[in-house]
Amino acid sequence: MARSARIMVTSTYHLGVEKAMSDFDVIVIGGGPAGCYAALTAATKGCRVAIFEEHGAIGRPRHDPGWLMESEFTKSIMSVLESEVIGTKVQEYRVCNSENGELIEKSTLGGYLVRRDLLEKEIAALAIQAGVSLYLKAKVLRLTRKGDKVEGIETSSNIIPRAKGEIFICADGIRSAGNGFAASEGLCERSEVLPGISYLLANAEVSAGIIEHFLSSDPLLNYRCFWPHCKSACYFSLPVSSTLYEFRERQDNIVSRKIQNACALEIGGYATAHSGKFGEHFEDIVKDNIMFVGDASGGVGNIHGMMQGQFAGMVAASAIKDKDVTNKRVSEYQDLVLDKLGKVPFFFFSAREDFGSFDNWFSQFEESTRGIKATEVACFQ
Ligand SMILES: Cc1cc2nc3c(=O)[nH]c(=O)nc-3n(C[C@H](O)[C@H](O)[C@H](O)COP(=O)(O)OP(=O)(O)OC[C@H]3O[C@@H](n4cnc5c(N)ncnc54)[C@H](O)[C@@H]3O)c2cc1C
Repeated sequence: MARSARIMVTSTYHLGVEKAMSDFDVIVIGGGPAGCYAALTAATKGCRVAIFEEHGAIGRPRHDPGWLMESEFTKSIMSVLESEVIGTKVQEYRVCNSENGELIEKSTLGGYLVRRDLLEKEIAALAIQAGVSLYLKAKVLRLTRKGDKVEGIETSSNIIPRAKGEIFICADGIRSAGNGFAASEGLCERSEVLPGISYLLANAEVSAGIIEHFLSSDPLLNYRCFWPHCKSACYFSLPVSSTLYEFRERQDNIVSRKIQNACALEIGGYATAHSGKFGEHFEDIVKDNIMFVGDASGGVGNIHGMMQGQFAGMVAASAIKDKDVTNKRVSEYQDLVLDKLGKVPFFFFSAREDFGSFDNWFSQFEESTRGIKATEVACFQ
């Protein structure tokens, strides 16, 4: 059924008779890891699904350094996709003092480093194989309502300016709390979007597979991290107020010394727009027939987002199958998220406060999500 929907869209467009309007069971807004995983799950379970992504590529611009927290879900993805996403098992996650480099703690539960843009592309490709229609350069501009339900979307795309759906999965990322749907649907206060700079560095003094995470009372030195995928390439981010060149001029800390001879291979931007505590889900992550997943739900983290995508896709598919698209039914998604992820959100910036140590956070996350596997990925191999 999904395939015929895709053909209808294309042929209507090519005939030039009228702009296409398509019907889907599930419409996913945003093609990040959370949205792609939700689409993959719903399509695997038989739904007609479409993803609308505002950019011209899945995975670009790159959103983060591609650290995947350890869990059974992560391992099951990596057992299938490790070579496709150029994955590296993290040997050690080190937390150190930024000024003198002293080790504060270390963990061997550091998960994986992957090429994040490739990860999204792989998940999206599997979703397409499962029948998902993907529309690029198709920004969702607004949701249209009938009664107390959303019935469709309007987009910026000439190819598919409108589409109708039964269930909507909002996966529009961190900006959802800025000028996106989480704020416009009243899930959170509208917050300011703050930019940052993300570098891919060559020649930093790092070791492949060893994440180094630096803490300091100086805000600029605090939470500076090296994510080295291999000896020659390492991700590093800075707030927009400082450039790499200024940062490495400093002589008073180990982080600057480690990048003294480094050179940027890639400079990208990122955005943050946090309404409330970083990583904590909004009180409600379902509204009417819309489920919010990933950063759009207030949560953070690639693995957290993909798990949420899996929960949302599962609930959407069973509600559609039973022809029971009520808010009560769709809210089963929220219960799953609270049950499995509510106790171990992506509290990256407060892990030591909330869990005592990063190692504790990692092991509690692994424990709480035990048994959740990326079965959708495995079933395509
Ligand atoms: C500097 C930094 C480093 C990070 N490092 C890590 C890390 O190493 N590991 C980790 O797990 N997490 C990390 N995170 C968090 C991680 O990047 C996010 O949690 C993750 O990207 C969320 O995925 P998502 O699918 O919810 O949203 P996103 O990846 O943001 O995807 C949202 C998608 O929706 C699209 N979109 C937005 N609005 C619309 C619209 N109206 N119509 C159509 N499409 C739209 C966007 O173009 C985008 O493709 C980091 C975050 C930052 C800021």
